[in-house]
Amino acid sequence: MGMTLEQTALRQINGVSATKEGELHAFGISSVKDLLEYYPFRYEDYRLRSLSEAKDGDKVTVQGKIMSVPVLQRYGRKSRLTCRIMSENWMFSATWFNRHFLKDQLEAGREIVVTGKWDQKRMQMTVTDSEFPDKGSVRSGTLQPVYSIGGKITQSWIRKTMKQALQQFGEMIPEVLPSRLISKYKLMPRKQAITALHLPNDNQSGQQARRRMVYEELFLFQLKMQAFRALNRGRMDGVVHAVDNATVREFVRSLPFELTDAQKKVELEILHDMRSPYSMNRLLQGDVGSGKTVIAAIALYATVRSGFQGALMVPTEILAEQHSRSLQKLFEPFGITVGLLTGSVNGKKRKELLSSLQMGLIDIVVGTHALIQEDVYFRDLGLVVTDEQHRFGVNQRGVLRRKGYNPDVLTMTATPIPRTLAITAFGDMDVSTISERPKGRIPISTYWVKHDMMDRVLGFISREVGQGRQAYLICPLIEESDKLDVQNAIDLHVQMQQAFPTFKVGLLHGRMTPSEKEEVMRSFYDNEVQLLVSTTVVEVGVDVPNATLMVIMDADRFGLSQLHQLRGRVGRGAHASYCVLIADPKSEVGQERMKVMTETDDGFEVSRRDLDLRGPGDFFGTKQSGLPEFRIADMVADFEVLEQAREDAAALVGDAAFWTSPEYAPLREFLQQQQIFQGDLID
Ligand code: ADP
Ligand code: MG
Repeated sequence: MGMTLEQTALRQINGVSATKEGELHAFGISSVKDLLEYYPFRYEDYRLRSLSEAKDGDKVTVQGKIMSVPVLQRYGRKSRLTCRIMSENWMFSATWFNRHFLKDQLEAGREIVVTGKWDQKRMQMTVTDSEFPDKGSVRSGTLQPVYSIGGKITQSWIRKTMKQALQQFGEMIPEVLPSRLISKYKLMPRKQAITALHLPNDNQSGQQARRRMVYEELFLFQLKMQAFRALNRGRMDGVVHAVDNATVREFVRSLPFELTDAQKKVELEILHDMRSPYSMNRLLQGDVGSGKTVIAAIALYATVRSGFQGALMVPTEILAEQHSRSLQKLFEPFGITVGLLTGSVNGKKRKELLSSLQMGLIDIVVGTHALIQEDVYFRDLGLVVTDEQHRFGVNQRGVLRRKGYNPDVLTMTATPIPRTLAITAFGDMDVSTISERPKGRIPISTYWVKHDMMDRVLGFISREVGQGRQAYLICPLIEESDKLDVQNAIDLHVQMQQAFPTFKVGLLHGRMTPSEKEEVMRSFYDNEVQLLVSTTVVEVGVDVPNATLMVIMDADRFGLSQLHQLRGRVGRGAHASYCVLIADPKSEVGQERMKVMTETDDGFEVSRRDLDLRGPGDFFGTKQSGLPEFRIADMVADFEVLEQAREDAAALVGDAAFWTSPEYAPLREFLQQQQIFQGDLID
């Protein structure tokens, strides 16, 4: 058998030295396969156009004849070179900056191709690139790929190398998609598509190439998800929670409120999964304040009543504290024990806790990620509830399983993603959505003010605190450089202490030790501190119902979903709540974003409008959303393809031939590289 592209070293490409090979490594490119799959992120357009079609301000490339002797002006080391050019019947003046060396080549009567910005009113072009057809043009008339690369690797070097690699090894590019799908969607063959992405010659083939690679990328992503899901469902060796409805009712009746219809619906979906023999992998999404915690509590209660232990994993120690306290309160009447395990539980206390867990003396443990790793053993773990930042990847679930647990997993997220998108994006999970918030909540009033209104904001804080309420004051970053002009938390804390001598001002930021943080949070819970100056440490899940005012400094520095999360810290009690955004955004988009916040407090609406304003790439590119990232596909723009790919992948995985037929060997190999082994999962 011959070599594969993966086994082909970069140095086998003519012109790639050991040094260059090392520089490519830094971009994650270590084989010819990696190189060929390093797609350009955009193209420079050097195709020839006619000035009669160009609009003022367009970047255009035109061919013409030099009509005048060039004029060179020098200003110290800078220079300006101009001449007149005739293109079709347009006569215009072309200007080069700092290209004095071109002067001798600009001979009257010679043909030239110029690229630059077209100023229609003044009939003038500022030239950025030029070439002479009589010397053999390279760029003229083409689209040139632009790669996200840097350091010592230039665009022209990587273009040249890519071309060379395609010449030497292009024939070895394998097809991976089943022929049935290729003909169903009339997709360009893989070899041709990859070549067209790197050496585009016209728009149409470029679009066809992109269409092909987008489908491939989304299909492989879905194949991984669907294979995992199918194998998981097929195993039937998950924990079976044999809990009856009457037992669950007993707990639900003890709650201080009635569940909303939306909560009841997701409760049933979760209990159904828990009772089944396959292991649950479910995403629970709902807007801030929709009441996800109590759903987690019901599931944890059900696991304990079925004779298992439960774990609740959260991203911060503050939250772990808070949740262990509220679960303790809920479960006390039922004799269910709750433990807390975080980085600051250590020494003897930690040892005791670990041994009680292992012996099954603790029913539920709340903690950070360390919970399910390292030296932590359970007697019988039945359910893991996690926060979105701890979504188990497909591979991590394999680790859990190999460790000997096969618990049900419930993942909670407050990032409101349209349901259809969530289902597709998290293809390995089932999705439950809490679509409404509890009735009777007073909507949070949101205001946007400029920095010069700070005095009035302070008056507002004073008034709320005077009425017995509490407030948050959020600043973006601590100890930032002056340049960024960001209020730092420590300074702000001092200023607030001076502004409000009659009440207590607390400070919370990420560089404090866990016990310091815990102490500050505790005093805020107990209303010993009335105003909490904080960085975004409080963002996720903190629940202090007496806090009714959220003030956010430099609000335009935050993403909309983050602002929405922060705002969700108030409006949790019986009193009317307010959110004040302080910002002087310069751009129109920045101002629009502030307006969105004042106009709606529905998280799904916020994310929809955010999407409109920022464009899909930006929004879902953020790590925060927990969504997968793609090389060439765009989850939102290519959403329909994503859905189609999901159907195709699910159908293929459901077909017995997939696991045996030689036709699918490349795809099975791909799954193995993704650490999804049929044998491993089914064994
Ligand atoms: P989130 O979904 O943001 O995690 P929480 O679970 O913290 O929301 O719930 C927000 C608040 O609403 C909590 O104080 C909780 O006790 C309360 N709550 C939850 N469900 C209901 C309900 N059905 N009726 C009234 N209040 C509820
Ligand atoms: Mg929560």
